[in-house]
Amino acid sequence: MIAQDDFTDEQKQYLEGFVSGANLARSLHGLPTFAATVAALGAPPGVNAGPAGQEAGGGPDAGMHRAQDRFHAEGRKLAPEEQAKRKKHPLDQWDDLRQHAESGRYPKGTDVLAFKYHGLFYVAPAQDSYMCRLRFHGGIVRSTQLRDLAELAEQYAGGYADVTTRANFQLREIQAEDAAALLTALQDAGMCSRGTGADNIRNITGTPTAGIDPQELIDVRPLCRDMHYYILNHREMYGLPRKFNIAFDGGGTISALEDTNDIGFTAVRVEEGKAVPAGVYFRVQFGGITGHQDFARDAGVLLTPEQCVPFAAAAVRVFLEHGDRTDRKKARLKYVLDAWGIEKFLEETCSLLPFQPVRSPLSECAPRLPVVKHAHIGFHPQRQEGRVYVGVVLPVGRLQATQMRGLAAIAERYGDGVLRLTVWQNVLISGIAVEQAEAVRRELEALGLQWQAGAVRSGLVACTGNAGCRFAAADTKRHALQIADHVDARLRLEGTVNVHLTGCPHSCAQHFIGDVGFLGTSVEVGDDFVEGYHVYVGGGYGEQQEIGREIYRSVPASEAPQVTERMLAAYLRERRDPDESFLDFCRRHSTEQLRALFELEAVPA
Ligand code: SF4
Repeated sequence: MIAQDDFTDEQKQYLEGFVSGANLARSLHGLPTFAATVAALGAPPGVNAGPAGQEAGGGPDAGMHRAQDRFHAEGRKLAPEEQAKRKKHPLDQWDDLRQHAESGRYPKGTDVLAFKYHGLFYVAPAQDSYMCRLRFHGGIVRSTQLRDLAELAEQYAGGYADVTTRANFQLREIQAEDAAALLTALQDAGMCSRGTGADNIRNITGTPTAGIDPQELIDVRPLCRDMHYYILNHREMYGLPRKFNIAFDGGGTISALEDTNDIGFTAVRVEEGKAVPAGVYFRVQFGGITGHQDFARDAGVLLTPEQCVPFAAAAVRVFLEHGDRTDRKKARLKYVLDAWGIEKFLEETCSLLPFQPVRSPLSECAPRLPVVKHAHIGFHPQRQEGRVYVGVVLPVGRLQATQMRGLAAIAERYGDGVLRLTVWQNVLISGIAVEQAEAVRRELEALGLQWQAGAVRSGLVACTGNAGCRFAAADTKRHALQIADHVDARLRLEGTVNVHLTGCPHSCAQHFIGDVGFLGTSVEVGDDFVEGYHVYVGGGYGEQQEIGREIYRSVPASEAPQVTERMLAAYLRERRDPDESFLDFCRRHSTEQLRALFELEAVPA
């Protein structure tokens, strides 16, 4: 056991800060407390260098200030966003936000960035209104929250909510004068929008079937929850140079897409005779950012479940101290890793920890059981006997308030009272008694929602697009539905095909990992410019990890449905056998071969 006096003041502050955030949630789940983990593992002397913001008189923003000062001392100019954050921390701008609401004004200049720290996005010129993004750890939404959200969507927003690609909800069409009232009403209802935009750790995602998946190794819901509350209760976590994503995968049938996150945790089984006692551990991956064509890379360590949140917190602190603050395009974790290599980043992370993760090559772990793409759509047995869950298809993620109330009622009447949002912009209802599945089917249909859909519609992902995002070059959601309607009416495909549409290189809909990916662009047609896309095929994640290949450039949006049909028709015609997936088909051919095959099929008029 380590005595209190063995720690420096800095180390004690770090541990106290961490423990206050993590222990409450941990005790609720019956997991060992962080302090117990530290005591059990032991802390090598002198390794707790102390996190950013903990030095005497520094306050929680000291780490951010120190990092900014370092660039300044090197004669490098801070990005305007960094200068604004230095002038006044965005979380200290609540009064400004209220004043804007009281006078019916939208923010200008760097206040736009500051308000995103509160979850409010002024989205002009796409819409002269705010969007509000929430956070639901692991995508878990209680039915009572969904009902309250429906109420608030009608009272303060456009009467609908969009499920995002981080298993989250967004409200849109919020007027300037309603902004503060909405934020306070959300908190009254036990919901939170803090730190959902700008340079913050975004919604913590996890396996959507956690706790009910017959195949999973571990239920990651407590980890998502711990991470969520750790962020909310640590002001220094709001001093990052850029946004940051964290995901937990429990090793089940459904992926959490953790390899597309800045830090991805993947549950693995380790058998007898390895570096650690047999059991379930987590691998860590660093630096996923598919918009920059990079997946997260394995860091070569094994963590126990109770080590994951402190490990992530330490890694975030290293990023906070060393991420670029002069060039926003290079300010993501990937660029620290590119400059340092994984090993140095890992060493810096471990230097902040009161325990040392076990080094272990990936080959020490049993291979992950296969992920089944879109296995969550429709009805599926749970690990709990006699219970099923249903994956409901939400066309490009939009739910009207009446549908939200209807889903909440179904979850309460037939399920376990929670809904699970997915990164594929769909929703699951769990805990349904097998004999009530038919009643649930009927109620979903009465709400105009589908629990089975065509091959394209059930795997459709689209970012906001230019109907609500100023960066977008195309109306992605509308075009996504046009593609799905067109193709599903004409082709009979056995499995789901992932079609991802993203409006700009920020890649919120991760076009590089779709079977088919569309990246919005402006296309010159005669004397005009029209909305259009560059088209990619063959992207994948997890075991099928690969960045999609560009197959066509500058396709007008009006032709996107026919182009998709042509590619899928060629696949149906030319595939090796009915078991060959579109992905495998694409990977079996070179880009030139694919183009030739796709051109063989006539485009319908
Ligand atoms: Fe907006 Fe670009 Fe993200 Fe789409 S990908 S929502 S256009 S920032």
